[in-house]
Amino acid sequence: MVSKSHVALTRCFYCMKPDRILLAKRYMANGEPVHDLSPAQDKVIDMDPCNKCQDWMEKGIILIGIDEAKSDPGWNEPPNTNSERENWMPNPWRAGGFAVMKDEAFCRLFGKEFQKFALKYRYMFMEQKAMVLLGIIPPEGEKDGGGDSESR
Ligand SMILES: [Zn+2]
Repeated sequence: MVSKSHVALTRCFYCMKPDRILLAKRYMANGEPVHDLSPAQDKVIDMDPCNKCQDWMEKGIILIGIDEAKSDPGWNEPPNTNSERENWMPNPWRAGGFAVMKDEAFCRLFGKEFQKFALKYRYMFMEQKAMVLLGIIPPEGEKDGGGDSESR
């Protein structure tokens, strides 16, 4: 019998970095947790931002670079039924771009439909090529090896 996992480290929906540690709360008499946590390991389990993204969302809008052509068709369309929609998350192909833009700058650059979404949800998926064209992120190949550049 495969034993269930007592602990899992989830990832943040926005930055995809390790986020929260989940611990099993309830145990059965044999010492196994009631709920197996292994499916949550390394996964995005909800759309709550990690502390860092929460902080960024207070300062501006998080822009996440995607590649529409590599994404599943319909990635942006919520399912029809309420029960399916409850745990649904848009899941485009992520191209790795990540930036935070002040509200004023965002509103100067983007039209009303985008503003409506972004100001409400504090993030937006965006074609990575467009992010490069607009100068939001450097072209590929100019990245300094990734990681946290803000601390440098
Ligand atoms: Zn995050």
